[in-house]
Amino acid sequence: MTEIERRRTFAIISHPDAGKTTLTEKFLLFGGQIQVAGAVKSNKIRKTATSDWMDIEKQRGISVSTSVMEFDYEGYKVNILDTPGHQDFAEDTYRTLTAVDSAIIVVDSAKGVETQTRKLMEVCRMRNTPVIIFINKMDREGRDPFDLLDELEEELQINVRPLSWPINQGARFKGVFNIYENQLQLFTPDKQRVTEKVEVNVNSDELNGHIGDQDAQKLRDDLELVDGVYPEFDVNTYREGRVAPVFFGSALNNFGVQELLNCFVEIAPSPKPTMAEEREVQPTEPKFTGFIFKITANIDPNHRSCIAFCKICSGKFERNQPYRHVRLDKTLRFSSPTQFMAQRKSTIDEAYPGDIIGLPDNGIFKIGDTLTEGELLHFRGLPSFSPEMFKYIENDDPMKAKQLNKGIEQLMDEGVAQLFVNQFNGRKIIGTVGQLQFEVIEYRLQNEYNAKCRWEPVHLHKACWIESDDPKELENFKKRKYQYMAKDREGRDVFLADSGYVLSMAQQDFEHIKFHFTSEF
Ligand code: GDP
Repeated sequence: MTEIERRRTFAIISHPDAGKTTLTEKFLLFGGQIQVAGAVKSNKIRKTATSDWMDIEKQRGISVSTSVMEFDYEGYKVNILDTPGHQDFAEDTYRTLTAVDSAIIVVDSAKGVETQTRKLMEVCRMRNTPVIIFINKMDREGRDPFDLLDELEEELQINVRPLSWPINQGARFKGVFNIYENQLQLFTPDKQRVTEKVEVNVNSDELNGHIGDQDAQKLRDDLELVDGVYPEFDVNTYREGRVAPVFFGSALNNFGVQELLNCFVEIAPSPKPTMAEEREVQPTEPKFTGFIFKITANIDPNHRSCIAFCKICSGKFERNQPYRHVRLDKTLRFSSPTQFMAQRKSTIDEAYPGDIIGLPDNGIFKIGDTLTEGELLHFRGLPSFSPEMFKYIENDDPMKAKQLNKGIEQLMDEGVAQLFVNQFNGRKIIGTVGQLQFEVIEYRLQNEYNAKCRWEPVHLHKACWIESDDPKELENFKKRKYQYMAKDREGRDVFLADSGYVLSMAQQDFEHIKFHFTSEF
């Protein structure tokens, strides 16, 4: 119980450049995992130097893979799941969100809500994941805080509740009033670690002494308005995912970060129950269960070995114990499971619900696989989304057909992209969120499987999973649309609509057919 209750497993998500990496790094500083600022970035570069396919990452200066960082803080065990910043890897981020119990969303104070922020919040909303919002870069001239809050509510469709309040911004930024702790925190831009904390009554003259008459009056007015507009903060509403507490600060200047972290560990939920097809699994159950939500590519190009990331849902995971790989119905023992620190990984003997462990994978795992002590369980909640871009994948080296097929299968197991087989012409179609994924696939097929692929255009608008209670209508539909019917890797029927118009006509003509845009229904 104690181990479970002290765990906080979460993801920091944002639109690229809002400050996710900077905030992560500051958290690691407080957790004592790194000593100097800049370590997280330099870690990225080191990785690139030793691994081949990450050249792509280096060339484009983006973070391709998702990693895990853990540290102890004030008695809590914090697990941060990092997510790739680039939108072409959004699917990867969505899957990571299935393994967390809460999220922190970073928003740039000058830019407000951006495309990726909106999409990520949608995924959080789908799963009722509690979120805290950090409005970053208050040291820059940004937008009016009240306007920003309105925009958050409107664009992200969630109620917000400020738990801190900025005193000016940009060059005149003086600090934030911590509403949650009822403290004033003053900002000194050249001091990297320390923020001056003073406990003052908002209505006392002391406040004027700290920030001047004009700003003190403005702060009082603002706080009064905040209290008038937003209902009092209630931790349960937050945990149910119905209200998002908001903090203001500057990650780069380390301002407002510790306040955020302190409040986060206090209010964020510890590991929650996980839904399996068969039943709901409680973290407190004695027997170990877990699922694979992420498989990394070759970290070391000399060995074709991957790491499968397993989220522990219940019980205690122990090294060398026999566990059941449910899909393969095989018993496996793991002699070198790893846990991740900021810059290293180490072998562990045991792990608890909420923890993420790395299991060596030589092709035995697929995204979504379940491990148990014997029970037949299938964890749910790893949806595939209808891709945005489609291309036919063709073999460009007739001597390497086998390698190509194996490569495609394994890359799809890792969740790099989605594969559909057109039932009419038997051709393989790869669906992705962005162009970059095609490049990654091509690169990895060549480097890891010695296979050459070629892309050919296919004009598609959406792929949707179809189902119906009326088998006759379903057959009828499939017959009418036979050129546009495909199967996904699980053998489910997928309709490939070549335009938005065709799709809406189909929806009109076939009332009893449900068209799904995610594979989870
Ligand atoms: P990510 O793409 O979301 O991971 O963003 P990064 O953490 O890499 O930050 C993007 C840029 O914004 C970098 O140049 C940071 O130095 C800068 N940045 C981050 N936080 C702040 C801040 O609080 N104030 C200012 N002025 N710049 C910041």
